[in-house]
Amino acid sequence: MRLFLTQMKEHFVVMNIKKKSMKLDNGFYLGAKWKKSPNFNSRPLSTTISLIVIHSISLPVGVYSGKYVENFFCNDFHKMNEIFKIEPMNVSSHFFIRRNGFIVQFVNTNDRAWHAGHSSFKGKDNCNDFSIGIELEGVDNDFFSESQYIKLIKLIKCLSLNYPLENIASHESIALPKGRKNDPGPYFDYSRLKIFKNLNLFF
Ligand SMILES: [Zn+2]
Repeated sequence: MRLFLTQMKEHFVVMNIKKKSMKLDNGFYLGAKWKKSPNFNSRPLSTTISLIVIHSISLPVGVYSGKYVENFFCNDFHKMNEIFKIEPMNVSSHFFIRRNGFIVQFVNTNDRAWHAGHSSFKGKDNCNDFSIGIELEGVDNDFFSESQYIKLIKLIKCLSLNYPLENIASHESIALPKGRKNDPGPYFDYSRLKIFKNLNLFF
């Protein structure tokens, strides 16, 4: 009986490991379309990835269709400049969740995406070093869609199984100087993230 129970236990451990790796494969989320951004580098050695940063973005601002956010994160500025003017910047995010819940991944989660800019969290500067950035398609004066919350929660659940995450923060709460950023804004319902009992929320 004891042997049987041990075997069962081992079986479930193997099952759990498989479940874990099925959704995130070496830093690639299997529920996302992969579109590589050149805007990333390695994280500092022995960094613990402990923070998720929530952002919002739409290009042009308030327009929720088209490829401009993807172009922006991939430095395809000429495609945008035919339609609207935007300052070229080398930025990226690990993930972008569209209004319909479709997810695009630009940077491997083991690498350092360039989403937070000048920032500090609990006295630690350079949040890009130890965070994963998630952009929601939107603006800071509009609601987000149900599909976005569903996919966001699924994504965070997967990431929390793979990294020792402790906190989720808005870009607004970590950006320096204070007031430099205000995303995702007051219409983001962060109370939806309270289902993650082990993660502290900073919004
Ligand atoms: Zn942001």
